[in-house]
Amino acid sequence: MNNNFAHCQRCFYSIDHPLGLIIDDEGICSGCRIHEEKDEIDWNQKWNSLKNIVKRYKSKSKKNYDCIIPVSGANDSYFIVHQVKNKLGLNPLLVSYNKYYNTPLGIRNLANLRIKFGCDILIQNVDPNKVKKITRTTLREFGSIYWHCIAGQTAFPVQTAVRYKIPLIIWGAHQGLEQVGMYSHDHQVEMSRRYRKDHDLMGQEADDLLYLFDTLTENDIWQYRYPDDYEINKLGIRGIYLGNFIRWDPKAQHEEMIKLFDYKTSMFNRTIDCYDHVDCFNYMFLHDLLKFHKHGYSKITDHVSREIRHKRLDRQTGLKLIKYHEAQPVKYIDKFCEWINIDNSGLEFIIKNSNNLNYSNDKSKSSKYTKSRNKSGIKFFANADLSNNEDEKYITVGKGYP
Ligand SMILES: [Zn+2]
Repeated sequence: MNNNFAHCQRCFYSIDHPLGLIIDDEGICSGCRIHEEKDEIDWNQKWNSLKNIVKRYKSKSKKNYDCIIPVSGANDSYFIVHQVKNKLGLNPLLVSYNKYYNTPLGIRNLANLRIKFGCDILIQNVDPNKVKKITRTTLREFGSIYWHCIAGQTAFPVQTAVRYKIPLIIWGAHQGLEQVGMYSHDHQVEMSRRYRKDHDLMGQEADDLLYLFDTLTENDIWQYRYPDDYEINKLGIRGIYLGNFIRWDPKAQHEEMIKLFDYKTSMFNRTIDCYDHVDCFNYMFLHDLLKFHKHGYSKITDHVSREIRHKRLDRQTGLKLIKYHEAQPVKYIDKFCEWINIDNSGLEFIIKNSNNLNYSNDKSKSSKYTKSRNKSGIKFFANADLSNNEDEKYITVGKGYP
């Protein structure tokens, strides 16, 4: 056995990927290997097995929802609701955790989702003062402004399942499977407290924050607690992932949603994908910068790797795109500083302290790559802007339509 590969020879992930991956003797990573299953699986059979799973959850009395779908004004929300409501014929309750970094476009997409599909929605607005307090702490202690978003997005649907006695939660793709091939599609991995803690939340559940930092109290974090096992088991709550039953292809899926349901998209300077995260002023900017500092790569690497696996990009072009986009300026930092009430230099200090890379608005650094973007041969369609007015603040609570 001669395996000295630290980097996948197909995509751009390395053995340092935060979710963990392995590279085989041919230099191909587990994420790429599991992706190959997508062209081997009998998806009709998978779809039928999904139909079998969900049919027992249909409310016989019609007095309750059949399932819960966590949604936002972006990502795969439209596609998931389309599959569940229109194709599987279930009556879902949509739930959305308000992360407060909302763009006008995201608010619009969420309102349009609710109207186009005719669904009820629950939106959780945690006291913004608590959210800011938590975020100041997680930013300072582990360089994350997204802990509360992930914790809220993964706890609120499960809390709602308990509260409303709706035992089935339907998610999109499983990140561990999609990115690093942690599981095969055939494992039909389901939602778990353990995965949430170890991978989604970087090992820090809500209660762990109390022990780590004396700045937070129980009153600040209780909304982010995952329900206990007794309640989950009593009601038989489970969370399934559509990516185990449908050949997952975010680019193609979003393009279908643009056509069918008027999903709106927007160009980002730091990646090629115009479809993901259009609801957030931070995900593709400050959060992406922090990811780059912590893990040595940013979202463009995820998108390029995904497109290479789908055979829409070659490796050489992918590398150019990564170099170009990861050097692009990080926008909307001022909005974040204003929201959380720290000054720009304070934030810069935290970022610089997190490692020795500087963030910079100096475009000249990347000038030799400026032509890469349009030469990639891969097309994403932007049909809107995140915001019509650059000075607009976060839409902390917004209904979207008059
Ligand atoms: Zn790979």
